[in-house]
Amino acid sequence: MAAPVFSARNPRTGVHDYQCEHTTAAELDDIVKRLRVNQPAWAALTLERRLDALDQFIAAVERHKGDIFSALKTDTGRVRIANLELGALGGQLKRIAADARAMLGDIPARPTMIPHIHGSGHYVPYGIMGNITPWNFPLLLSFIDTFPALAAGNAVIIKPSEVTPRWVEPLRKALKEVPAVENILVFARGPGDTGAALIERVDLVSFTGSVRTGRKVAEAAAKRFIPAFLELGGKDPAVVLASANVDLAAASILRASVSATGQACQSLERVYVARPIYDAFVQKLVEKAKATTLDIDDADKGFVGPFIFERQADVVADHLKDAVAKGAKILCGGEIITKGGKWLAPTVLVDVNHKMKVMTEETFGPVIPVMPFDSLDEGIALANDTTYGLSASVFAATAEEAMPVARRLNAGAISINDGSLTAMIQDVAHESFRFSGIGPTRFGAEGILRYMRRKAVLTNTLGPMDVTGQLIKL
Ligand code: NAD
Repeated sequence: MAAPVFSARNPRTGVHDYQCEHTTAAELDDIVKRLRVNQPAWAALTLERRLDALDQFIAAVERHKGDIFSALKTDTGRVRIANLELGALGGQLKRIAADARAMLGDIPARPTMIPHIHGSGHYVPYGIMGNITPWNFPLLLSFIDTFPALAAGNAVIIKPSEVTPRWVEPLRKALKEVPAVENILVFARGPGDTGAALIERVDLVSFTGSVRTGRKVAEAAAKRFIPAFLELGGKDPAVVLASANVDLAAASILRASVSATGQACQSLERVYVARPIYDAFVQKLVEKAKATTLDIDDADKGFVGPFIFERQADVVADHLKDAVAKGAKILCGGEIITKGGKWLAPTVLVDVNHKMKVMTEETFGPVIPVMPFDSLDEGIALANDTTYGLSASVFAATAEEAMPVARRLNAGAISINDGSLTAMIQDVAHESFRFSGIGPTRFGAEGILRYMRRKAVLTNTLGPMDVTGQLIKL
């Protein structure tokens, strides 16, 4: 019987021009069987040997970077960001290597609450991690959990998004050149069913994607009593205080809202501005938004690219329609342009409220709704009026003024006087709040620990106890 096939759409042409077979359940069984044999040997290597093998893998990726870049460019319709994703892999591994060296190693023995019983411990990898990833940064987000999990001694099966599958083929070629890594890292391609089948077979799941799928992943993992670390969506707010520099705040918020066509979990999707500067802010934002070009005719020129996932353009159109029907005014952008692929110019909305989808649900497009507030308490309450809690931004004349506001925002990472800094900074630990995710941090030096369990070793240094709890005299 022929293997099942799925096709992928080219986001610039709108044509389904790529087909690939998806990994069947029987193939997954074989992969898992092989990894069960190979993973203990990988975990038994010294950390330096594992890091050395991963370095060799990065060198192989470098040798194949032309083909990987070209596939990723077609998958996403992006040039600059595809280059950034590819270029970031080596740096990502370097950071993880430094964290692993600092954090891993045996936990030294020390006296416990009963002083003659000493406690020490080991970090133990889970075994096989299933890593299920989305389409918005397909390469980067497939390795953000994979490198630390491998460094920690796990084997990994990556299930990348079926929306952007092309980059996997050239990546597999690079993988083939480093057998030590090929033995413990496998790609399984296919739609959601493949992800679901993966969860049935692994020891740990790391998932980056939507809340809707995250809930299914958490339920499936809970049935098997395996951990599922979820990195989900957001509806990040920016709070602009009256003292903020209007020009700088508008420029930064625009970047953080429309970069990657707004298809980023930490995009700013709601803006609350102190009433005294509201009009000036909106004017600046619209001015800058109008000057931000689309890259329809040339992927190398223009800032805002096509929607990667066609259905996302429908979600964005639905949010705009809903907002306008409920009284919102579109000051610029607002029309989805179809020229093979689908584009939307940076869209600024005013007269918005929290009854509109554009203020409550993840939009994932270059859309910036702006709302005034009259008191700081009101601004903070509006920013916190959400089921999400990924990240947020505060703009003020000084960081000192912004800090108390940052403390009151109910989200896992706050940027001060710039938007979405977590997109660039991975070395400060933070977790996602509320429906934006669950699990220990994957960032900061301690991020590496989430891919391991701690095993305690307790040694009675004076000898065992009898049934009364008294030391047995030898
Ligand atoms: P998605 O949830 O639709 O899909 C993510 C992955 O899950 C895909 O590989 C898909 O095939 C797989 N999947 C689907 N059904 C499944 C099932 N039942 N069991 C297991 N796997 C299944 O998400 P998407 O549309 O690809 O990505 C966009 C979403 O990802 C947005 O909500 C965005 O905010 C979020 N995201 C979050 C972060 C973060 O770090 N918090 C980063 C990037 C994207």
